[in-house]
Amino acid sequence: MTSFVYQPAATHLVRLPFESDLYDEITAYARDHDIRAASVTCLGAVRRASLRYYDQDGRDYRDFSLERHLEVVASVGNISLLDGEPFLHLHMALADEDGRAFGGHVNQGTTVFALEVTIFELDGEPPERAHDSCTGLTLWGGTVEDC
Ligand code: ZN
Repeated sequence: MTSFVYQPAATHLVRLPFESDLYDEITAYARDHDIRAASVTCLGAVRRASLRYYDQDGRDYRDFSLERHLEVVASVGNISLLDGEPFLHLHMALADEDGRAFGGHVNQGTTVFALEVTIFELDGEPPERAHDSCTGLTLWGGTVEDC
């Protein structure tokens, strides 16, 4: 197990611009405000979504997109460091007009209709992402156990 302990710092409420790129906007906000460790939630709606699914056996991401208007019913993520820069890791559940849900890891290419983001900034030395040999992912602290 790897853990890090923080005290809460500022909470940022951010409204993203119409038709902006959801991933790029939150990342730019984090970099502009030097947010290096944070918990993130958001809700609202998107014009289209670009998501990923991680194939655990193939150790590779499968990208897919949803070309429709969707509600963001839940979205959670975090900000930590990758290659010394603030890096957003965000997952999202989306629903269509019939309430059917889709979801995944959020990619660039997700277009905002209206989105309210809450960034809970954390005070302390941020976790660094590095390659983890057990999963093939970039995780906090990199490889920390035999697998
Ligand atoms: Zn993910």
